[in-house]
Amino acid sequence: MAKGQEQFFQNQTVNEILPCYRVIWALNYMRWLAEWDLNTYMPEGGATARGEALGQTDLLSKKLFFDEGFIALIKLAGKDSTLNDYERGIVRRLEHDLNHYQKLPEEFLAEFARTTSTAQLAWRQAKQESNFAFFSPHLTQIVDLVRQKADYLGYPNHPYDALLDEYEEGLLTSEVEEYFASLRLFLPDLLGYITRSRKFLARHPLEDEPYDPEKMRALNQKVLQILQADPLHLRLDIAPHPFTEGLGTPDDVRITSWYHKTNFARSLMATIHEYGHALYELQGDPRLNYTPLAGGTSATIHESQSRFWENMVGRSWQFIKLIYPDIVSLSPGMVLYLKEDIFRYLNLVRPGPIRTAADEVTYHAHIMIRFELEKALIEKKLAVDELPEAWAAKYEEYLGIRPKNDAEGILQDIHWSAGSFGYFPTYSLGTGLSALWRHLLQEDLGPLENLVGSPEGIQKVKGWLAEKIHQYGSTYTLNDLVRRLTGSTLTTDYLKDYLENKYRAIY
Ligand code: MG
Repeated sequence: MAKGQEQFFQNQTVNEILPCYRVIWALNYMRWLAEWDLNTYMPEGGATARGEALGQTDLLSKKLFFDEGFIALIKLAGKDSTLNDYERGIVRRLEHDLNHYQKLPEEFLAEFARTTSTAQLAWRQAKQESNFAFFSPHLTQIVDLVRQKADYLGYPNHPYDALLDEYEEGLLTSEVEEYFASLRLFLPDLLGYITRSRKFLARHPLEDEPYDPEKMRALNQKVLQILQADPLHLRLDIAPHPFTEGLGTPDDVRITSWYHKTNFARSLMATIHEYGHALYELQGDPRLNYTPLAGGTSATIHESQSRFWENMVGRSWQFIKLIYPDIVSLSPGMVLYLKEDIFRYLNLVRPGPIRTAADEVTYHAHIMIRFELEKALIEKKLAVDELPEAWAAKYEEYLGIRPKNDAEGILQDIHWSAGSFGYFPTYSLGTGLSALWRHLLQEDLGPLENLVGSPEGIQKVKGWLAEKIHQYGSTYTLNDLVRRLTGSTLTTDYLKDYLENKYRAIY
């Protein structure tokens, strides 16, 4: 048992579950570590053996999960009405996984894995050649499989509910629709105001400004220092696409960033974003170690942490002031820029075709478009062949632009080729949630702006997040956590206040 764990887990059945789960955790830990290595340091030639090892360890961990004795314990604990929050959390997490494994037949999972691994290669080629036709037959198969998956899993109202539940336990299609409807009440007006402003810029020279990668790497390390990351427990490495790998323990978390020839903002913001994900893992209560509750609870809450640090800390005036001297020394051409220029650049709003490059105001339109198209595909209201045109029409409607080609349009994201339907909404919801955290934090600690400029302030912000969110790991679901802190459900009111106040002042 992890030290002090007995204070959290007193129920006898739960105490029989935990040692069994610890072995599953250990296997997962090795898989996560191998995945991190695969995306960072593994020589390319290692891919086949790594795939085999990952597949076999996955099978082994499922075998342990499906042990009859283990399942019986989960079911027994599920009937117990005396469990505390932590114990209930353990049972909830395990029942969710069990339900998933039990409802999807093995042959179906194998077909899903085969189809998506071929589809990912096809997607890569299609994107390279900017030709949707290469990917379209694969996507047709995937949509078909995703529909079957929803039927196998079952759902309260809409088949898309089953897909959302994979990433955000219990989230309903109708809730996502309501959330987006309330964003529509203010975002188009705000964007219209910005694009009509005299200060609106269609292109900024810093986007094409080269930077010294060695200096950028040093700046990223300095940012981690300012944010008081503990190098004993956190590493920063390089990956083709930035990600965070948590290992189910606050002792060891890995983040990655990326480097390009130009536009320092991409590397800087990726580092701060991933740090936000990492902090959620790092500040979990160690008494949850080796249990299903170790690590962040859901895709939405995880994204709320990364977006909080990226947007509300990283793009704030006080924070930019701290790193301004390092930013302008990234290249000889940058010494011309004042603090105000860098601040404006990092908070530039402009409709564009690429989701991952989108600013805080236009970001949600990218997600709404994907959600509406996914839903239409699942409802059979749209055929895969009609997607590129439907995509372009929605970009025209929401952002007033059309993609130049398939690569910067319909083919830009990897998610569909991996069979991930139902994931995108968590990006937008997570961003909305980050504004709620900001609001609650400011009620307790005063304006965030006043905190992020000093070491004591940063420490207070981290402490607040640990106390309210991080310490619990996966104990609570999204709705439970929000209800505990606010007595109600997630609204867009705080996102609206934050965006309106910030961007009407900048533009
Ligand atoms: Mg993220």
